[in-house]
Amino acid sequence: MTLRMRIAAHFILFTVIVSALLWLMEVVLFERLYYDAKTRETKAIAADLAVSCANDTTEDFKAVLTDAAVNNQLCISVYDGKRRLAFQRDVMNNGCLLHGHDNMLFTFIQALDSSSDGTICQRVYDEQIGMETLVVGCLIHVDDETQGVILLNTILEPVDSTVAMLKRFVLLFTVMVMVIGCVIAIVLANRLSAPIVRITASAKRMARGDYHTRFEGSSCREVDELARALTYAEHEISRADSMQRDLVANVSHDLRTPLTMLKAYAEMIRDLSGDNPVKRNAHLQVIIDETDRLAALVNDILDLSRLESGSQKPEMQEIDVTSWLTDIIARYKGVSEQMGYHITFTPDAPCTVTCDPAKLERAVCNLINNAINYTGEDKQVFVRQVNTADGVRIEVQDTGNGIEEDKIKLIFDKYYRSEHHTREVVGTGLGLSIVKAILKLHGYSYGVRSRVGEGSVFWFLIKK
Ligand code: ADP
Repeated sequence: MTLRMRIAAHFILFTVIVSALLWLMEVVLFERLYYDAKTRETKAIAADLAVSCANDTTEDFKAVLTDAAVNNQLCISVYDGKRRLAFQRDVMNNGCLLHGHDNMLFTFIQALDSSSDGTICQRVYDEQIGMETLVVGCLIHVDDETQGVILLNTILEPVDSTVAMLKRFVLLFTVMVMVIGCVIAIVLANRLSAPIVRITASAKRMARGDYHTRFEGSSCREVDELARALTYAEHEISRADSMQRDLVANVSHDLRTPLTMLKAYAEMIRDLSGDNPVKRNAHLQVIIDETDRLAALVNDILDLSRLESGSQKPEMQEIDVTSWLTDIIARYKGVSEQMGYHITFTPDAPCTVTCDPAKLERAVCNLINNAINYTGEDKQVFVRQVNTADGVRIEVQDTGNGIEEDKIKLIFDKYYRSEHHTREVVGTGLGLSIVKAILKLHGYSYGVRSRVGEGSVFWFLIKK
């Protein structure tokens, strides 16, 4: 069932329920409500008159009873303690049940005498006038003693004609409500479903690879949010897609270059330098370097996919940050200083943290490698340990060209490499993605501050 049909169906169901309830209230319950109201009213009058009769020792109560009879269209009969008629008023012109029906009268008085609360209330059909009537009786008490009886008889007006009129009214009302309800339901369903239908069509276009599809919202906030979420998803998918393409281009280029060189140098050794030990050694060294480069790329790809698969858990261990960093940097000293690089380590007070030192070392090394690769002419790299209230911040700073602001959010992406990337700068485009994966595995925050022309500071915070 489509959304449009579902909304319309629910709305129509709602109007049907409302109409049915109205029907029930007006037609079925009307008669009962009328009789209940009439009974309540007559009982209240009877009780009031009983009190008036009891309190009145003079003949004045007759005037009160006459008024009540005329004003409320009631036949009233009052009997004294010896059951002698003390007052009678028939507003139905001798059609009253209390008039000339001694047997019935006797039954009412008997029922009243034997009732537990001193009242009776009966619906009796009056054959004389051919209508239903209501008989209400009440004992008159004076000083807790029964002094007399008051009986009231009134016609219960037939409600059939009113009900018939109401039926016509409710039918008309139902038809009108249904028509208006259907129109509103269809308009509403169309207005609600149209943007969703549009968004679905756009999503299908996006699924087919068109990443320039526009997701239009509507006046509803939820639909707007859906459109915005899909636009964001489209942007991300498009980015992932182009990165995927870059990956294939980068990886295949990076694989092909060393493979070509390996083949070329192997052929050179076979055909030319095989017998010349100096040349052969130089060529073999190239083969070894290229194999290292190839192995590094393959290792990075494997490490990253392992880290990102979530199968690796950090092997937590307590370490002293200062001595751990000192060891790492010491290992760089020989190689880097030979090539003219200076790595300056600024420690803070010794501090113990719990982390996976092997993985975190990989992250630190990747940051230092990048700093070495991208630092400026002065070949300076600074590593700092800064103890903070939240933990220990590790900073790796270089003095290179820095990173443009719009590139900063991209550099931690897989296979992202700046356009200025050259083969001289050894790198797979995976270094920072591995750093990110390791830091995410630990739940550490990380970031980079960089200014073009002034260098960059990569940092992460080891939580305490
Ligand atoms: P790689 O260095 O192998 O290209 P990385 O993932 O380590 O891959 O880095 C991604 C990109 O981030 C690099 O190509 C470079 O453009 C940029 N980058 C990383 N570190 C620095 C740095 N210290 N200074 C300037 N740019 C950097």
